[in-house]
Amino acid sequence: MPGLSTTWTAADSTRLYGLDGWGEPYFAINGRGHVIVQPRGDRGGSLDLVELVQGLQGRNLSLPLLIRFDDILEDRLERLNAAFARAIAQYGYAGRYQGVFPVKCNQQRHVVEQLVESGRRWHFGLEAGSKAELLIALSLIDDPEALLICNGYKDQRYIETAILARRLGRQPVVVIEQADEIERIIRASRELGAAPFIGIRAKLSARSTGRWGSSVGDRAKFGLAIPDVLATVEALRQANLLDELRLLHFHVGSQINDIAVLKDALQEAGQIYVELTKLGAPMGYLDVGGGLGIDYDGSRTASAASTNYSLQNYANDVVATVRECCEPHGVPVPTLVSESGRAIASHFSVLVFDVLGTGSVPDAIPPLAESEPLIVRNLRETLAGITALAGGDGDLSGGQPGNPPVHQPGERLVDRLQEAWNDALKFKDDALSAFRLGYLGLPERAMAEQLTWACAAAIAERLPAGPIPDELRALKAALASTYYANLSVFRSAPDTWAIDQLFPLMPIHRLDEEPTRLGHFADLTCDSDGKLARFIGDGQAKPLLELHALREGEPYWIGMFLAGAYQEVMGNLHNLFGSTHAVHIRLAGGGGYQVDHVVRGSTNAEVLEAMEHDPDLLLERLRVASEAAIQRGELKISDARRLMDHLETSLRQTTYLQG
Ligand SMILES: *Cc1c(COP(=O)(O)O)cnc(C)c1O
Repeated sequence: MPGLSTTWTAADSTRLYGLDGWGEPYFAINGRGHVIVQPRGDRGGSLDLVELVQGLQGRNLSLPLLIRFDDILEDRLERLNAAFARAIAQYGYAGRYQGVFPVKCNQQRHVVEQLVESGRRWHFGLEAGSKAELLIALSLIDDPEALLICNGYKDQRYIETAILARRLGRQPVVVIEQADEIERIIRASRELGAAPFIGIRAKLSARSTGRWGSSVGDRAKFGLAIPDVLATVEALRQANLLDELRLLHFHVGSQINDIAVLKDALQEAGQIYVELTKLGAPMGYLDVGGGLGIDYDGSRTASAASTNYSLQNYANDVVATVRECCEPHGVPVPTLVSESGRAIASHFSVLVFDVLGTGSVPDAIPPLAESEPLIVRNLRETLAGITALAGGDGDLSGGQPGNPPVHQPGERLVDRLQEAWNDALKFKDDALSAFRLGYLGLPERAMAEQLTWACAAAIAERLPAGPIPDELRALKAALASTYYANLSVFRSAPDTWAIDQLFPLMPIHRLDEEPTRLGHFADLTCDSDGKLARFIGDGQAKPLLELHALREGEPYWIGMFLAGAYQEVMGNLHNLFGSTHAVHIRLAGGGGYQVDHVVRGSTNAEVLEAMEHDPDLLLERLRVASEAAIQRGELKISDARRLMDHLETSLRQTTYLQG
């Protein structure tokens, strides 16, 4: 193919897929053209992702596979704590940082357990937003210094549970988010003769931007407006509970793109904090919520898929701004708490799925038939005219021997290509009209369509660099292939569908080979929204990704990266595609890896049961039906057995296609 270069290297792929922007320090490409994972970041050790997938397949774990690198989770925690430690040292901050992980970001047992284990060094805690999450947090946190932030709507039982958990040596902080919660806290405290640590979530007036912009401001769903904050302080004072008011909380929404938004919020919250201490509350903690963003496209801009700040910038701003608020008033600086979910959990899991096949336009050139109708001959000649043109450099000097191009001096290649495309479209329309009127048979119409697409492909191959008419540029997209992916977008990447989230997607092998196709992914569901058709590009998302042509008998594996936060729990059972297999991988000594946990994906039986179907009953009905068919002589016994075998095996297997 024209443009196919034999000098394509891993470095070209790194640039093409933006790996140098979003991948560092965890993902890179090795000399074999495979993606490698460096689970401990800069601290050494790497795994060849392709070999890892092969090893997992050898353990009977089929694709699609969610691979969780627990070392990355730990490294993210380490980086977050190190960034705050550096900022605290740099600004001479006379307080500490003590983060919590918001459980809603990824509630999977092994993930939360790993976080609690890795976070022990820093007394890292958990944030819960519901009773079930509270239960997870209460049972997993056994460090008396770790915080357990209780957000979300709370009924009496939730509040009493938090109060009683204090006796277990836990540190739950009940954050008042709604004005009516104060009554329940007072009642529960009277009844139990004990109080919880209390926090207040303030509704800030600072504006945010982007998708979660409405999480702050006067109409935000959560938090107390300033008059309610004051009324709450008074109510606590009267109930003798003001001494338990320890924490001020705010949350400006997920994925803060612009650091300026955070600064405004921090200044406002810092002043509220100071005022609360003046009102007599002991305070001691300022919880800046979540929102620490991920640079999905590596562009380092304030756009939706990026952030215009680094982790260190974030920590510096939190520390410096809070200090600036407290110092002039002689108020001791608080322990800083953050609830970063996305920033901790995005990198550690990689979804690898296989491509089942591709679909392209029918651009094969049909063999020359005897006495072809004029319309078909016209298209053939147009195609010959195009193939006689040289491509790429915009001049018309090259032609093929025996088929000399006829051209006027000064005529440009794009003009010739445009002219040829106009001809092709005209002849194709003629063919369609002739077909409708009955002058052209189905085989001739098929030939006309194939030749038109062949013209389009030949033109696309010859498009020179530089300005090109929109119509010709669109040909490349029209010729793009659909890559059929063995996954459900609704299960594994729901945010791409629900909120146009952009995740880095790329092949994990053949990266030392130039990708010669453009394509997007279609998933297994029977839903036209079930596709991945937005990819990270230079400056803005692009609808097509550079991909390789499939090779006969060889798998083609794609990785979806940075999707460890929110996707699993938001994923749904659309078309009854269930969870994929998930594995927890740890770097082992000596360059290898160990498989710490295997979490089997849902079987067909399980997804059926989730919809109240009884798999045994379904099987029994089919057994009865095949028995009747055997009686009628319509089904052989051996075929009946084969049918029942398939059904029984499918019930035990995952919902995805088996290679
Ligand atoms: C969702 C949420 C978070 C986590 O936000 P991230 O953007 O993932 O860091 C933190 N705090 C509260 C109150 C939340 O609702």
